[in-house]
Amino acid sequence: MRRTRTLAGIGIATVALFALTACNSGSPSSPGAGTGGEEGEDSTWFEVAEDVQLEGSPTFDAMQERDGVVVGVKEDQPGLGYLDVTTGERTGFDVDIARWIAASLGYDEDQIEFKPIASANREQAITNGDIDYYVGTYSINDKRKELIDFAGPYFITGQGLLVAADADEAEALEDFNGKTVCSATGSTPIQNIKANFPDIKTQEYDLYSACVQDLIDGKVDAVTTDQAILIGYAAQYPDDVKVTGGLFTEERYGVGLTKGDDALRTHINELFTDNGDIWQAIFDANLGSSGIEVEQPEVDAY
Ligand code: GLU
Repeated sequence: MRRTRTLAGIGIATVALFALTACNSGSPSSPGAGTGGEEGEDSTWFEVAEDVQLEGSPTFDAMQERDGVVVGVKEDQPGLGYLDVTTGERTGFDVDIARWIAASLGYDEDQIEFKPIASANREQAITNGDIDYYVGTYSINDKRKELIDFAGPYFITGQGLLVAADADEAEALEDFNGKTVCSATGSTPIQNIKANFPDIKTQEYDLYSACVQDLIDGKVDAVTTDQAILIGYAAQYPDDVKVTGGLFTEERYGVGLTKGDDALRTHINELFTDNGDIWQAIFDANLGSSGIEVEQPEVDAY
C-alpha cells in the first residue's frame, strides 16, 4: 500500500479525477481503482493486493467463489457516492473507499459490482447477503448494530440543513416548526425530526435527490441530512440552494457488514488504521476543495 501523490484542487466535481485517470491508464471503462495524476507521474493511491487470505470470513469466501465483490453504494450524492449516467463513471469519497477496500482484498475495478441501495434498505440488503459490504453515508448506531456490524468510522459529519438560495439563514431545526422539511426514509435525520421535533412537518423519499428537487421546486422549505451530503448538492446547484446553520448531531460513517464477520471487520479496520496517507489522498481528491474540514477518525474496533 502506498500513496505517492494527492490530487489537490479536484473537489466536488470529481469527473475531472477520472478524466485524468483515463489519460493515465488508457482505459476509461476501468477508472483505475483509485489512481490519478498527470501522465508520466507515479500516482497510485493504492494497489490491488495479491494472494489475499482471510481466514474465517464467510463474506470473503463468497467473494472468492464468484471472483468478484458486490458493494452497496449511493449514486445520487455528489462528492460522496455519485453515478454520472452519461459516462457511467462512479465518483465520490465513499465510492473510492469502497474501491480501496476491494483492492485490499485482491479485487480491481473490473471485479466490483456496485449496487445502489437506498437508506431504508441497507440493513436488509446486508442481512439478505445481497451485498458484501456497504459504503454510503451510513451512520453507525446501536439500533443498526443489532442487525449488522460496522467497520470504521472512516468519516464524521453531522445533521445539517439545505434551504433555497434566497431563503433566510436558519440557525436551528426549530426554525422550521410549522414548515415542511424533507429527508430520506430510514435515515437518522428523519428519525431525529420525527422523534424530537413534532412541530415540523415531514416529506420523505427514498433518495435525497428527490428532496432537493422538491426544494428547488418550492414544494418543501428545507432538506435535512448530513451536512457533507448537503454540501455536495449546494455545489451541484449553487444558484438554487445553500447550506445553512451548523451541525445538529454527530454522524459517524461506517462500512456496513454482515453481523459476526469479525475477520472482515478487523481487516477493514486495520486497513483504515494503517494507511492514513491513503485515506487523506482519497479525501483530498474527492472533498478537498469542498470546504469540509475533517480528520480521519480513529476506528472503533469493538
Ligand atoms: N448518515 C445518515 C444515515 O445513515 C444519513 C445519510 C443517509 O441516509 O445515508 O441515516
